[in-house]
Amino acid sequence: MMLDYNSLLLALGVSAACLAVTLMGSWLVRRSETVLLTATIGLVLVVSGIFVYSAYVNSPQTWFCVASFALFHAGFATIWGAGKQFLTGRLSIPAITVRALAAMVFSIVPMLSGYDGLAFIADNLAIALLLFATARQYWLARAEAPAPLLGLTALYTLTAISFVLCAAVLISDGKLVLGKAPSNWAEDLSLAVCIAGMTGIGALSLALHQWRLAARHRLEAITDPLTGLLNRRALFDEHGTRPMGTTTAVILFDIDHFKSVNDRFGHAAGDRVLKVFAGELAAHCRNGDTAARLGGEEFALVLKEIMPGRAELAAERIRRAFESREIHIDDEVLKCTVSVGVAPGRSKSWDFDAMLSAADKALYAAKRAGRNRVELAGHLQAIPAGVSRTAS
Ligand code: GH3
Ligand code: MG
Ligand code: MG
Repeated sequence: MMLDYNSLLLALGVSAACLAVTLMGSWLVRRSETVLLTATIGLVLVVSGIFVYSAYVNSPQTWFCVASFALFHAGFATIWGAGKQFLTGRLSIPAITVRALAAMVFSIVPMLSGYDGLAFIADNLAIALLLFATARQYWLARAEAPAPLLGLTALYTLTAISFVLCAAVLISDGKLVLGKAPSNWAEDLSLAVCIAGMTGIGALSLALHQWRLAARHRLEAITDPLTGLLNRRALFDEHGTRPMGTTTAVILFDIDHFKSVNDRFGHAAGDRVLKVFAGELAAHCRNGDTAARLGGEEFALVLKEIMPGRAELAAERIRRAFESREIHIDDEVLKCTVSVGVAPGRSKSWDFDAMLSAADKALYAAKRAGRNRVELAGHLQAIPAGVSRTAS
């Protein structure tokens, strides 16, 4: 061999340690991303295992080997846990512990019984299984960001295969007792694969982290934080630029006497009312419809492919559902109502601004006519006509 195995092992340990520091740094910048912390802990355990194993290569004392097995298995099980956490959003410490302990028992028992050859086979197989299981987590998550996730799947799989090869060579040698660290072509290959894999996995993990942050920022930019509905900007981005088509209706809602809810029950109660109303809107949305909070206590609903006469019925259903909702605030029960303006589909396609302005006029008419009612914008083509008629 051209390069000394132990120097390469130490190089792997150092590069893995650098990756752990980078991951930890990313976690410190955004503490809510606990998956980064999980991955960091997994790497630190593996790095410690590498250094202890290197000590074993130099001086084959059983307890060095036992300690390195324990650290490797805890580390790879934690790295599997980070993959699982990435996929499901939840960290399962019991699941990690079970896998780590199973791997340890599988390999440490033969080691302590004096069959170190058998122990190394078990150790390689256990690590391979944990790596295959890790690859599977990223495979299952692949839809989120295909390029980096398929890359991670491939790298974890390749690394796993290199450990299977190590086990296979030891099995074919058939030695139950070695007395030192195994040394063969598969071990050298596995080390090279680990060095390359570690670099790739590190780069892809960081890219993935950035990708998730960017996606979250995009989502935050179009979401109203209080209600979780789309915000005004998102609504205009979606509908603002092109004619709406003749089967699209725009409905505007404004909660009645909302200011007095705030004044009597406090701002937090007002927020509760807004969330309850947003829930009603969302519950009445079908596929393709858009519900948005325009600001304050004003909401908009854009209904696609709606039959003539249906938009006002939908508006009336929402008005009635909201009217009958009891909102509990401390010991009191609060009831609210909403006024609604409907701009139905037209014989000629209008742009969004014109539809919105027609719905707004109808809404204003609903307020003037006593609130808690639905008004339908007139069917005349002229926008400033201000014609509106009662739906009922
Ligand atoms: P009307 O029936 O004519 O619509 O009367 P109103 O009191 O609902 O109308 P107005 O537009 O005067 O009051 C809206 C109030 O909504 C004023 C503002 O303090 C309150 N508001 C705006 N945004 C929020 C919010 O995010 N949370 C809460 N709690 N109140 C808000
Ligand atoms: Mg208002
Ligand atoms: Mg209002």
